Amino acid sequence: MERGVAVVVEDDDDIRTTLTEVLQQSGFAVHSTASGVAGVDAVREHNPDIVTMDVGLPDFDGIEASRRIRTFSDAYLIIVSGRVDEADTLMGFEAGADDYLTKPFRPRELRARIAAMLRRPRTLQAAPAERALPPRRGEQHPPRQARQGNLAGQQPRESPEGEPGSPAEPGCCDFAHRGLSLHEASRQAAINGEPVDLTRTQFDILLVLMENGRTVQTKADLVRRLRNEPYNTGSFVTAGEERAVEVHVGNLRKRLGDSSQNPCWVETVRGVGYRMTP
Ligand code: CA
Repeated sequence: MERGVAVVVEDDDDIRTTLTEVLQQSGFAVHSTASGVAGVDAVREHNPDIVTMDVGLPDFDGIEASRRIRTFSDAYLIIVSGRVDEADTLMGFEAGADDYLTKPFRPRELRARIAAMLRRPRTLQAAPAERALPPRRGEQHPPRQARQGNLAGQQPRESPEGEPGSPAEPGCCDFAHRGLSLHEASRQAAINGEPVDLTRTQFDILLVLMENGRTVQTKADLVRRLRNEPYNTGSFVTAGEERAVEVHVGNLRKRLGDSSQNPCWVETVRGVGYRMTP
């Protein structure tokens, strides 16, 4: 099955070959490059779904390359680094990366990340018809693939009224709050009707927050949700993953033009997590 397009940016021949093989086995058409300039050009040319980015490149580093790619692409961006330093990891997330892989990695680690990404589909792969034809007023959306079995059986933690996430105008968007609207099937966000470009990770975080309204989502909740795990698994979440969520939320705020001090939409609950403003 053709799943999409990938760009590999890696100057080490062996690692580039491994990355390329794993992605091909996962069904991607792969374009591999060995420098930052070539990598950015390849992303521009091929509009990939997924990019793997080495940090140590011969021209400029992978963090800078990621930053440049993020200005025009919402590809799922995985930094592949020989360094395990947490500060480096965070720089990658600040540059807009979605995920991080440390060398040496096993092919199955990369496969796991690809699988996690595919469970959080983008519009074009998930529901092409939805994009072309928005659902009519009152029509039900198709089942949400990204969430199968995820929230099933979960009790709502707050009464429906007072949930800013309640559908405002059926057919226009799934969630709306203070001019910010989210359409889940097409994975589009808009502020006062003006589309806002969000990465997959930013969209998913905003979706969880809007779904839950005033109910605080802890950083661990958000980490598990990005892994596509139900909240109640209680699976281990590292401090680094929580820091990554902080950076993703910071990037999300930047994209929305929101402020952490005086938020219009996303409120920080100090020491706990995040929720939507009243
Ligand atoms: Ca390298």
